[in-house]
Amino acid sequence: MAYVITDTCIKDLLCVDVCPTDCIHPKKDEAAFEAATQLYVDPAGCIDCGACVPVCTSDSIHPVDELPEELKQFAEKNAAFYN
Ligand code: SF4
Ligand code: SF4
Repeated sequence: MAYVITDTCIKDLLCVDVCPTDCIHPKKDEAAFEAATQLYVDPAGCIDCGACVPVCTSDSIHPVDELPEELKQFAEKNAAFYN
């Protein structure tokens, strides 16, 4: 399992600050940050701690198995950022 960020993300990086495994990118100092429309969780690095969820003011982060049908596509989109 992993957590997934969806397109309501406003790139304020609050989740990045609390993620213990540094699996949320791109970060501000990374080349892809400016062009990115949202941030993405690396499913290979996510340990399902849930720390990112309460800090997200736009409610954009969900456990992959709790994604509503219309947001399921974002599981693949998050993983694709790391492929
Ligand atoms: S806390 Fe939420 S809105 Fe902010 S960067 Fe993370 S996912 Fe995006
Ligand atoms: S659930 Fe934990 S490990 Fe996974 S992205 Fe959120 S803060 Fe990082």
